[in-house]
Amino acid sequence: MNGTKLIECPHCRSFATIREKPQYNSVDCWNCSMCFCLGCSNRPHFPLTCEQFAIWMEKFEHQRYLELSRTDPNSVFMCQCGNILHHSNKTWKVSCRACGTKYNWKLHSKFDDERIKCTNFADEYTPNYIAAEYSDICLPVYEMRFDANFFYDLKQHLKSSSVLNSGLLISNFKLALHLIELGFAWLYLTKAQKPDEWTTLKTLLSQLQSLVDSITTAVRNGLPVVNANQKAAELKKLVGIIMNELSNVHI
Ligand SMILES: [Zn+2]
Ligand SMILES: [Zn+2]
Ligand SMILES: [Zn+2]
Repeated sequence: MNGTKLIECPHCRSFATIREKPQYNSVDCWNCSMCFCLGCSNRPHFPLTCEQFAIWMEKFEHQRYLELSRTDPNSVFMCQCGNILHHSNKTWKVSCRACGTKYNWKLHSKFDDERIKCTNFADEYTPNYIAAEYSDICLPVYEMRFDANFFYDLKQHLKSSSVLNSGLLISNFKLALHLIELGFAWLYLTKAQKPDEWTTLKTLLSQLQSLVDSITTAVRNGLPVVNANQKAAELKKLVGIIMNELSNVHI
Protein backbone atom coordinates (compact mmCIF):
# COMPACT_ATOMS: atom_id res chain seq x y z
CA MET A 1 0.00 0.00 0.00
CA ASN A 2 1.45 3.37 -0.99
CA GLY A 3 0.60 6.74 0.57
CA THR A 4 -2.46 7.33 2.71
CA LYS A 5 -5.81 5.64 2.36
CA LEU A 6 -9.23 6.85 3.45
CA ILE A 7 -11.24 4.27 5.40
CA GLU A 8 -14.78 4.32 6.75
CA CYS A 9 -15.83 2.52 9.94
CA PRO A 10 -18.68 0.10 9.11
CA HIS A 11 -20.18 0.61 12.60
CA CYS A 12 -20.29 4.39 13.17
CA ARG A 13 -19.52 5.58 9.61
CA SER A 14 -16.74 7.93 10.70
CA PHE A 15 -13.74 8.40 8.41
CA ALA A 16 -10.05 8.14 9.08
CA THR A 17 -6.86 7.93 7.06
CA ILE A 18 -4.25 5.25 7.50
CA ARG A 19 -0.68 5.28 6.24
CA GLU A 20 0.47 1.72 6.47
CA LYS A 21 -1.20 -1.59 5.95
CA PRO A 22 -1.93 -2.71 9.52
CA GLN A 23 -0.69 -6.03 10.87
CA TYR A 24 -3.41 -8.71 10.52
CA ASN A 25 -5.30 -6.28 8.22
CA SER A 26 -7.62 -5.08 10.99
CA VAL A 27 -8.06 -1.65 12.63
CA ASP A 28 -9.70 -0.14 15.72
CA CYS A 29 -12.04 2.73 14.94
CA TRP A 30 -10.75 5.97 16.58
CA ASN A 31 -14.35 7.04 17.23
CA CYS A 32 -16.35 4.01 18.39
CA SER A 33 -13.37 1.69 19.08
CA MET A 34 -14.92 -1.23 17.20
CA CYS A 35 -12.42 -3.49 15.46
CA PHE A 36 -12.95 -4.45 11.85
CA CYS A 37 -11.19 -6.01 8.87
CA LEU A 38 -10.01 -3.57 6.20
CA GLY A 39 -10.71 -6.09 3.46
CA CYS A 40 -14.31 -7.09 4.22
CA SER A 41 -15.50 -4.82 7.11
CA ASN A 42 -16.36 -7.87 9.22
CA ARG A 43 -14.96 -8.50 12.67
CA PRO A 44 -11.20 -9.27 12.59
CA HIS A 45 -10.66 -12.82 11.41
CA PHE A 46 -6.93 -13.58 11.50
CA PRO A 47 -5.69 -16.17 10.45
CA LEU A 48 -8.47 -16.62 7.87
CA THR A 49 -8.44 -14.67 4.61
CA CYS A 50 -11.60 -12.66 3.85
CA GLU A 51 -12.69 -15.43 1.44
CA GLN A 52 -12.09 -18.19 3.98
CA PHE A 53 -13.93 -16.20 6.65
CA ALA A 54 -16.98 -15.75 4.38
CA ILE A 55 -17.08 -19.51 3.65
CA TRP A 56 -16.60 -20.36 7.32
CA MET A 57 -19.25 -17.93 8.62
CA GLU A 58 -21.90 -19.23 6.27
CA LYS A 59 -21.37 -22.83 7.41
CA PHE A 60 -20.91 -21.73 11.02
CA GLU A 61 -24.21 -19.80 11.12
CA HIS A 62 -26.05 -22.79 9.68
CA GLN A 63 -24.43 -25.11 12.20
CA ARG A 64 -25.39 -22.73 15.02
CA TYR A 65 -29.03 -22.74 13.95
CA LEU A 66 -28.91 -26.50 13.55
CA GLU A 67 -27.68 -26.92 17.15
CA LEU A 68 -30.32 -24.48 18.38
CA SER A 69 -33.03 -26.40 16.58
CA ARG A 70 -31.74 -29.65 18.07
CA THR A 71 -32.11 -28.24 21.59
CA ASP A 72 -35.42 -26.53 20.85
CA PRO A 73 -37.06 -27.67 17.60
CA ASN A 74 -39.66 -24.89 17.80
CA SER A 75 -37.15 -22.07 17.85
CA VAL A 76 -35.77 -22.17 14.30
CA PHE A 77 -37.79 -21.99 11.07
CA MET A 78 -37.35 -20.82 7.49
CA CYS A 79 -39.27 -17.88 6.08
CA GLN A 80 -40.97 -18.37 2.72
CA CYS A 81 -38.16 -16.17 1.29
CA GLY A 82 -35.48 -18.64 2.50
CA ASN A 83 -34.22 -16.51 5.40
CA ILE A 84 -33.69 -18.26 8.75
CA LEU A 85 -35.98 -17.19 11.62
CA HIS A 86 -34.87 -17.78 15.19
CA HIS A 87 -37.00 -16.89 18.21
CA SER A 88 -37.83 -18.19 21.63
CA ASN A 89 -41.37 -19.36 22.15
CA LYS A 90 -42.02 -16.40 24.42
CA THR A 91 -42.52 -14.25 21.33
CA TRP A 92 -45.59 -14.73 19.21
CA LYS A 93 -45.17 -12.02 16.58
CA VAL A 94 -42.10 -12.45 14.40
CA SER A 95 -41.05 -10.41 11.35
CA CYS A 96 -38.56 -11.68 8.81
CA ARG A 97 -35.58 -9.32 8.66
CA ALA A 98 -35.00 -10.06 5.01
CA CYS A 99 -38.48 -9.65 3.49
CA GLY A 100 -40.63 -8.23 6.29
CA THR A 101 -43.23 -11.05 6.28
CA LYS A 102 -44.95 -11.21 9.67
CA TYR A 103 -45.60 -14.57 11.28
CA ASN A 104 -47.68 -15.78 14.18
CA TRP A 105 -44.99 -17.78 15.99
CA LYS A 106 -47.52 -19.93 17.86
CA LEU A 107 -49.07 -21.19 14.62
CA HIS A 108 -45.91 -20.78 12.51
CA SER A 109 -48.03 -19.23 9.83
CA LYS A 110 -48.33 -15.82 8.17
CA PHE A 111 -50.43 -13.29 10.09
CA ASP A 112 -52.97 -12.44 7.42
CA ASP A 113 -52.90 -15.82 5.67
CA GLU A 114 -52.74 -18.97 7.80
CA ARG A 115 -52.18 -21.16 4.77
CA ILE A 116 -48.68 -19.73 4.36
CA LYS A 117 -46.44 -21.49 6.87
CA CYS A 118 -42.81 -21.02 7.76
CA THR A 119 -41.04 -24.31 7.14
CA ASN A 120 -38.82 -26.44 9.36
CA PHE A 121 -35.15 -25.50 9.26
CA ALA A 122 -33.96 -28.99 10.10
CA ASP A 123 -35.16 -32.39 11.23
CA GLU A 124 -33.45 -35.23 13.04
CA TYR A 125 -31.81 -36.41 9.81
CA THR A 126 -30.25 -33.07 8.82
CA PRO A 127 -26.48 -33.64 8.70
CA ASN A 128 -23.98 -31.26 10.30
CA TYR A 129 -22.71 -28.32 8.25
CA ILE A 130 -19.42 -28.48 10.13
CA ALA A 131 -18.02 -31.76 11.54
CA ALA A 132 -18.83 -32.02 15.27
CA GLU A 133 -15.13 -32.40 16.06
CA TYR A 134 -14.72 -28.71 15.09
CA SER A 135 -18.11 -27.20 15.84
CA ASP A 136 -18.08 -28.60 19.40
CA ILE A 137 -15.01 -26.45 20.02
CA CYS A 138 -15.82 -23.34 17.97
CA LEU A 139 -19.48 -22.84 18.97
CA PRO A 140 -19.11 -22.57 22.76
CA VAL A 141 -16.00 -20.40 22.36
CA TYR A 142 -17.88 -18.09 19.99
CA GLU A 143 -20.78 -17.78 22.46
CA MET A 144 -18.34 -17.00 25.27
CA ARG A 145 -16.52 -14.32 23.28
CA PHE A 146 -19.70 -12.28 23.00
CA ASP A 147 -21.01 -13.03 26.48
CA ALA A 148 -20.56 -9.84 28.54
CA ASN A 149 -21.81 -11.59 31.71
CA PHE A 150 -19.06 -14.16 31.49
CA PHE A 151 -16.37 -11.45 31.29
CA TYR A 152 -17.92 -9.63 34.22
CA ASP A 153 -17.73 -12.88 36.24
CA LEU A 154 -14.16 -13.48 35.10
CA LYS A 155 -13.08 -9.99 36.26
CA GLN A 156 -14.80 -10.37 39.63
CA HIS A 157 -13.33 -13.82 40.01
CA LEU A 158 -9.77 -12.68 39.32
CA LYS A 159 -10.12 -9.78 41.75
CA SER A 160 -10.69 -12.22 44.57
CA SER A 161 -7.83 -14.53 43.60
CA SER A 162 -4.16 -13.74 43.91
CA VAL A 163 -3.43 -12.95 40.25
CA LEU A 164 -0.55 -10.53 39.80
CA ASN A 165 -1.76 -8.93 36.59
CA SER A 166 -5.40 -9.69 35.93
CA GLY A 167 -5.67 -7.12 33.10
CA LEU A 168 -2.98 -8.94 31.16
CA LEU A 169 -4.57 -12.31 31.87
CA ILE A 170 -7.95 -11.09 30.57
CA SER A 171 -6.50 -9.64 27.38
CA ASN A 172 -4.58 -12.86 26.68
CA PHE A 173 -7.69 -14.88 27.51
CA LYS A 174 -9.70 -12.88 24.94
CA LEU A 175 -6.98 -13.35 22.36
CA ALA A 176 -6.94 -17.07 23.20
CA LEU A 177 -10.70 -17.33 22.52
CA HIS A 178 -10.21 -15.59 19.17
CA LEU A 179 -7.38 -17.99 18.28
CA ILE A 180 -9.33 -21.07 19.34
CA GLU A 181 -12.45 -20.09 17.38
CA LEU A 182 -10.70 -19.03 14.18
CA GLY A 183 -7.66 -21.29 14.54
CA PHE A 184 -9.87 -24.38 14.61
CA ALA A 185 -11.82 -22.83 11.71
CA TRP A 186 -8.51 -22.64 9.83
CA LEU A 187 -7.71 -26.29 10.70
CA TYR A 188 -11.13 -27.27 9.39
CA LEU A 189 -10.83 -25.30 6.15
CA THR A 190 -7.31 -26.53 5.37
CA LYS A 191 -7.63 -30.13 6.54
CA ALA A 192 -7.66 -31.46 2.97
CA GLN A 193 -4.42 -29.68 1.97
CA LYS A 194 -2.78 -30.12 5.40
CA PRO A 195 -0.04 -27.48 5.15
CA ASP A 196 3.25 -28.29 6.96
CA GLU A 197 2.25 -26.41 10.12
CA TRP A 198 -1.18 -28.11 10.37
CA THR A 199 -0.34 -30.85 12.90
CA THR A 200 1.80 -28.58 15.09
CA LEU A 201 -0.98 -25.99 15.14
CA LYS A 202 -3.58 -28.59 16.02
CA THR A 203 -1.50 -29.67 19.03
CA LEU A 204 -0.84 -26.06 20.13
CA LEU A 205 -4.48 -25.01 19.73
CA SER A 206 -5.65 -28.08 21.67
CA GLN A 207 -3.25 -27.17 24.49
CA LEU A 208 -4.61 -23.62 24.46
CA GLN A 209 -8.15 -24.92 24.53
CA SER A 210 -7.56 -27.08 27.62
CA LEU A 211 -5.83 -24.19 29.40
CA VAL A 212 -8.78 -21.89 28.66
CA ASP A 213 -11.14 -24.69 29.71
CA SER A 214 -9.50 -25.03 33.13
CA ILE A 215 -9.90 -21.27 33.77
CA THR A 216 -13.50 -21.21 32.46
CA THR A 217 -14.56 -24.19 34.57
CA ALA A 218 -13.18 -22.57 37.74
CA VAL A 219 -15.02 -19.29 37.00
CA ARG A 220 -18.30 -21.05 36.20
CA ASN A 221 -18.13 -23.12 39.38
CA GLY A 222 -17.02 -20.20 41.56
CA LEU A 223 -13.80 -22.01 42.48
CA PRO A 224 -10.34 -20.41 42.66
CA VAL A 225 -8.13 -20.77 39.56
CA VAL A 226 -5.47 -23.27 40.67
CA ASN A 227 -1.93 -21.95 40.03
CA ALA A 228 -3.41 -18.80 38.49
CA ASN A 229 -0.11 -17.00 37.93
CA GLN A 230 1.47 -20.02 36.34
CA LYS A 231 -1.57 -20.37 34.07
CA ALA A 232 -1.42 -16.67 33.17
CA ALA A 233 2.23 -17.11 32.13
CA GLU A 234 1.46 -20.26 30.13
CA LEU A 235 -1.44 -18.51 28.40
CA LYS A 236 0.76 -15.58 27.38
CA LYS A 237 3.47 -17.89 26.08
CA LEU A 238 1.13 -20.18 24.15
CA VAL A 239 -0.79 -17.29 22.57
CA GLY A 240 2.53 -15.82 21.40
CA ILE A 241 3.74 -19.10 19.89
CA ILE A 242 0.44 -19.67 18.07
CA MET A 243 0.27 -16.10 16.70
CA ASN A 244 3.80 -16.58 15.41
CA GLU A 245 3.07 -19.99 13.82
CA LEU A 246 -0.11 -18.70 12.18
CA SER A 247 1.65 -15.61 10.81
CA ASN A 248 4.07 -17.88 8.95
CA VAL A 249 1.39 -19.99 7.32
CA HIS A 250 0.90 -19.39 3.62
CA ILE A 251 -2.46 -20.74 2.62
ZN1 LIG B 1 -16.50 3.47 14.40
ZN1 LIG C 1 -11.78 -9.55 5.97
ZN1 LIG D 1 -38.43 -13.58 4.62
